Amino acid sequence: MRIVALGSGSSGNAILVDDGTTRILVDCGLGPRTIKTRLAVAGVRPDQVSAIVVTHEHIDHTRGIGQAVKNWQWQVIASAGTVRGLPAEMRRHATAAQGRIQVGELDVEMIPVSHDAAEPIAYAITSRSSGMRAGVAHDLGEPSDQLVAAFQGVDLLCIEANHCAEMLKHGPYPPFLKDRVASKTGHLSNDQTLAFIAAVGTASLRAVLLLHLSEVNNTPEVACNATKRAVTHRARKVSLAAALRRAPSAPIGEYSGLQLALAI
Ligand SMILES: [Zn+2]
Ligand SMILES: [Zn+2]
Repeated sequence: MRIVALGSGSSGNAILVDDGTTRILVDCGLGPRTIKTRLAVAGVRPDQVSAIVVTHEHIDHTRGIGQAVKNWQWQVIASAGTVRGLPAEMRRHATAAQGRIQVGELDVEMIPVSHDAAEPIAYAITSRSSGMRAGVAHDLGEPSDQLVAAFQGVDLLCIEANHCAEMLKHGPYPPFLKDRVASKTGHLSNDQTLAFIAAVGTASLRAVLLLHLSEVNNTPEVACNATKRAVTHRARKVSLAAALRRAPSAPIGEYSGLQLALAI
């Protein structure tokens, strides 16, 4: 199984999860031309994608759903609350789900998370063919025990590292926005992400991809430096990188026997 972040952050999120047989996107916050171009960089045609699993209804995660469904007839799966929160033209294409579902050869577990949306979800995804497990969590204010338990022992971890708490505190955001971002239903700070990686990472962890970095209150260097303690001093080398904002990230994981992890 390999994972490529096609874009990450408030300008649009979409994560390709590909086990060689089944391909899904976690979120589709990019327009169809961008999706098609960035999938091509990953060697994937849109007609090879089966479904979008949606974390929550915020526009940076859903902007491209309507057009993608129209162009490529992708399935759209989300929590019932997220489906209700989608605009009407997207809602009629979406299927409400909960718990564990199957999409092709992927087992997909939906885990509730804390964020200021209707019913936000993180996804734990297991490849039936290889047994590899991935956790993908976008936009959450604090990790729950349930999320830690569900992600424990994953091979590939994609987790938000939204802001540096100090940069947020001293940065240009108005006070109400600072409070919102830092709240329990806002976004994870680098320090929270460090603690989360340490809590869920076991000997099977191979790669960590940091998602949804704030353009104002974080940088890839700051985020990676703040979290690297969670992946160093492990028996196996664990790659750590920050997803790019407006371009596909280097793939993490293993695909057709080829190691694709890129260390920074
Ligand atoms: Zn959000
Ligand atoms: Zn977001």
